[in-house]
Amino acid sequence: MILLTPGPLSTRATTRAAMMDDWGSRDSSFIALTAELRRRLVGIVRGEASHVAVPIQGSGTYAVEAAIATLMKPGDKLLVLVNGAYGERMASIAKRMGRQVEIMRWGESTPVRASEVAQHLAGDSKVSHVGLIHCETTTGILNPFEEISRVVAASGRELILDAMSSFGASDIHLGLHPVTAVIASSNKCLESVPGIGLAIIEKSALSRCKGNSASTSLDLHEQWLNFERNGQWRFTPPVQVVAATVEALGALEREGGPPARLARYRENFSTLVAGMRKLGFELYLEESLHSPVIATFRTPKLWPGRDIRFDFETFYLAIAERGFLLYPGKLADADTFRIGCIGNVFKTDIEALLRTIAAILEAAPAAAHSA
Ligand SMILES: *Cc1c(COP(=O)(O)O)cnc(C)c1O
Repeated sequence: MILLTPGPLSTRATTRAAMMDDWGSRDSSFIALTAELRRRLVGIVRGEASHVAVPIQGSGTYAVEAAIATLMKPGDKLLVLVNGAYGERMASIAKRMGRQVEIMRWGESTPVRASEVAQHLAGDSKVSHVGLIHCETTTGILNPFEEISRVVAASGRELILDAMSSFGASDIHLGLHPVTAVIASSNKCLESVPGIGLAIIEKSALSRCKGNSASTSLDLHEQWLNFERNGQWRFTPPVQVVAATVEALGALEREGGPPARLARYRENFSTLVAGMRKLGFELYLEESLHSPVIATFRTPKLWPGRDIRFDFETFYLAIAERGFLLYPGKLADADTFRIGCIGNVFKTDIEALLRTIAAILEAAPAAAHSA
């Protein structure tokens, strides 16, 4: 199966092979592996001078929740910049924790606007933290994180950046664009398997966070102190996932780092979009607003070129039978489906997908379903 989703993704054979060993979690060889993981993660966003990497067991959401729990004190206020489902999720996480939350909303096809954020911050002195989703995976829209970073830093607030679906591909340079915490996960643009959430946190901010988190397991300050103290994870680490992720980080370096990976994703994306347009499908977003991580297409009313109602489920199953997994949409305001461009996926895979879709469209939908 080729997974054309936002993660878990198709991974390299070498990444999966790295999971074939057993590791003692308190043994020196695994301590060294964890140190390498943490060092490489900080390097990806060039945070060596200021930041530390704090991985945590779980999916990406666990890292978002742990970061908010750890960085925000009772009485702090989070301003969340929302233009999709992951922004809404960040706000609901903070609310549920009892933190004050303010939401600024834009439409799902509109990037967050830095000037409006600056204005809001000038008028609300209670806001201590700002939450932004870098690539809002709901649509694939890319938010202007560099501008927002400038605005937030100028107002003396702290930025929590959910870079889940951009980390490892987008150019994030912490020396140039200040961010208090960058959140990511093992199974998106890093192209490893799922199981670790990642937080790259400014050391000076993290060192002030002792006792903030009301959760024992989702406490990144404690997790960090433990890594610093003895190099070990506090609770049972997913040892095979750590090994796979270190291997995947090596593969990222061998590919040429985030710029080379982004270039491959761009080639996947532009091949996909041009081919899908030829087949009669339309992008939901204006193309210039898109990150190449995932493409959102409008679900057509009719089967392209035919007078038959289009049914995504039938289309999805016909494609799945031929070895490709697409992804349903999750937009509030339009009927869409998504095709991911990330993972160990190349232009030739996208071309094979396009040939498959063309063949399915040629056949009658009923035949496609039972083929
Ligand atoms: C994938 C993703 C998450 C986290 O999802 P999990 O299912 O918990 O890994 C959070 N934010 C964004 C923008 C994402 O793309």
